[in-house]
Amino acid sequence: MLKINEIFYSVQGESTKAGLPCVFIRLTYCNLRCTYCDTEYAFYEGYDSSIESVIDEVKKYNCNLVEVTGGEPLVQKESLDLMHKLCNEGFEVMLETGGSLPIDPVDKRVKIILDLKCPSSKMEKKNLYENIEFIKPEDEVKFVIGTREDYEWSKEIVNKYELNKKCEVLFSVVFGKLEPLQLVEWVLQDKLKVRFQLQMHKFIWEPDTKGV
Ligand code: SF4
Repeated sequence: MLKINEIFYSVQGESTKAGLPCVFIRLTYCNLRCTYCDTEYAFYEGYDSSIESVIDEVKKYNCNLVEVTGGEPLVQKESLDLMHKLCNEGFEVMLETGGSLPIDPVDKRVKIILDLKCPSSKMEKKNLYENIEFIKPEDEVKFVIGTREDYEWSKEIVNKYELNKKCEVLFSVVFGKLEPLQLVEWVLQDKLKVRFQLQMHKFIWEPDTKGV
């Protein structure tokens, strides 16, 4: 059984798949407490569901792109089985993970969006850098940047682990904390080879709208 917070159909708001229709499976629980978290409702709220019921629900939307998100999906070990079965059913599966739990057991057909938590999240010490070894070229590493310190830190990590050579690197702002223009200016000044992104759904809907 899995504890599900919500299943909904929307457009993908982030990553290189931004703008595409997508079914989101939001799993309950998170082992982190980022200062800027916008999904605290997923920490505990949810209902029990079998993997089969979740897949049946997903099929109703007739959409091939599926993202497993949270909370932190990897807190529930059954999420691995869910992703494996979704892949077997022919879905294109994405996983959004906070980067503190091992990704090596995740089905290799899954596109992983791995957060590396910056200092202002106050969760930097939870980053599991061993995960970088398991990053595939089609995966993406994401930095959510709230301050200049976060930016400098992210730059350092990208260089240290040569992330540009491994996969797509995403730089995003903490919504309402750092102006997008500021981050874009820093990226251009430093000629970084990273992909700037906005959380698209925060501009389409009211920023705190759930289920989008
Ligand atoms: S990892 Fe995600 S869900 Fe968990 S506290 Fe951080 S922002 Fe919130």
